[in-house]
Amino acid sequence: MYLSMAAYCTRENLPGCASWMTAQAHEEFGHMMKIYNYVLERGGAVTLSAIEAPPAKWAGPARLFEDVLKHERAVSKMIDKLVDLAIKEKDHATNNFLQWFVSEQVEEEATADMVLQKFKMVQDAPSGLYLIDRELAQRGQRAPFAPSSGPAAT
Ligand code: FE
Repeated sequence: MYLSMAAYCTRENLPGCASWMTAQAHEEFGHMMKIYNYVLERGGAVTLSAIEAPPAKWAGPARLFEDVLKHERAVSKMIDKLVDLAIKEKDHATNNFLQWFVSEQVEEEATADMVLQKFKMVQDAPSGLYLIDRELAQRGQRAPFAPSSGPAAT
């Protein structure tokens, strides 16, 4: 979903937002690998299944970040369900493992909401969008594989 959002941002001339989304996509891939490795470490079987195709269009950056917040809240609920199951199964190791994700989701929801409130504040005013986009670019530059970090032209 975040990669689809990154493509949308690029098309909308919001390169900072695109970098932020690409960084987010990579971060989420890392989170997936944490779970993948944990399952294998505990002797479990990894079964990959199809995931639903993400949307490709949004009605502006505020609506985009509304979807980010909605998505992160849904992810938090899924993690809560896993914690409930771990507790029910008296699986303390998995409960402990999942607590990292519980904390991470608090941060994810707060960040999504913070950006959403900024986009709501400027109400599509071009100068405001420009400033927020520049701010979002700062995160992208620190991330690996962000569009801006490709090999330098010779
Ligand atoms: Fe997330």
